[in-house]
Amino acid sequence: MKELTILKPDDWHLHLREGIVLKNIIRFTSELFGRAIVMPNTKNPITSIKKCISYKKSISEALPENSTFDPLMTIYLTDETKKDELTEGFNKNVFFAAKLYPANATTNSSFGVKKIENLYEVFEVMQELEMPLLIHGEVNDPEVDIFDREEVFIDKELSPLIKKFPKLKIVLEHITTAHAVDFVQDNNLGATITPHHLHINRNAMFFGGLNSDFYCLPVPKREKNRIALRKAATSGKECFFLGTDSAPHLRQWKAFCGCAGIFNSPVAIESYVKVFEEENALDQFEKFASLNGPKFYHLPINKEKIKLVSMSNQIPEFIDVIEGKKVLGQIKPFHGGETLSWRVEGIVK
Ligand SMILES: [Zn+2]
Repeated sequence: MKELTILKPDDWHLHLREGIVLKNIIRFTSELFGRAIVMPNTKNPITSIKKCISYKKSISEALPENSTFDPLMTIYLTDETKKDELTEGFNKNVFFAAKLYPANATTNSSFGVKKIENLYEVFEVMQELEMPLLIHGEVNDPEVDIFDREEVFIDKELSPLIKKFPKLKIVLEHITTAHAVDFVQDNNLGATITPHHLHINRNAMFFGGLNSDFYCLPVPKREKNRIALRKAATSGKECFFLGTDSAPHLRQWKAFCGCAGIFNSPVAIESYVKVFEEENALDQFEKFASLNGPKFYHLPINKEKIKLVSMSNQIPEFIDVIEGKKVLGQIKPFHGGETLSWRVEGIVK
């Protein structure tokens, strides 16, 4: 039996939702990850210090007792974001970073930024503060083909942005294209890569009929892009790090309206390890999962370790969302119904 022990990882891009879903899913992250950057696109987005403090409190209350998990909070940028609020929140350690969603680019992003230029004053301040800017890198122009939106964003929006703010600390989130891989490396940005974009290409969404289980934003792209992402993630290069973009939707909603988002946190580590093993790069996994992120964000690496063993691991088809004793619904995890070949055995002190 093969074993793999690595420093405890962090998840640099996570959706924890709210209420009963938050209470049901947080353990999948808090048990195995040291920290996570929590995305602010809740139904009522986290646009102020007050909302952020209250959201963080609800997360802390949902954590198992004695948990050492550290949620790193973000502010949702809008056309109305005030630089004073942002500065105060950052200086008081309420906001760890700011998230830029172009309006309507993804789930709950209707409050997002309509024109990036509207935020130039805010970026000026962020550059000075060295506050990270996390970007959902897709244009929202309905005339741009959905499969091209990341590339067009990079060329038309991101390129001018980094020229204007060369010292701004930017992470291009959940990258999906070879173009993004190259751009991140050439311009000293950071990038998160999700497990699902390493496993599936765009065919998955159309296999056996329209399949919303694999619908996420940015949408998976052509196979050549998936191959480029796998090379990047397993390269050990410091600019690429783990960010699951795990985004649960109750089954009834996912199946009914096909909301975008893949819930991968119950299986994220095993899912990534499968890719690293297939690419003969198990020795690079710790860099991607546990070292590159802290280095980019200037944070200490985690002290604990996690141990994985290679053994058959049957992933449940669905995970129940429970309130008291009542099952309120189910969420399908990524790889649900599949058998993976690694399993996290637990934390090693
Ligand atoms: Zn996301």
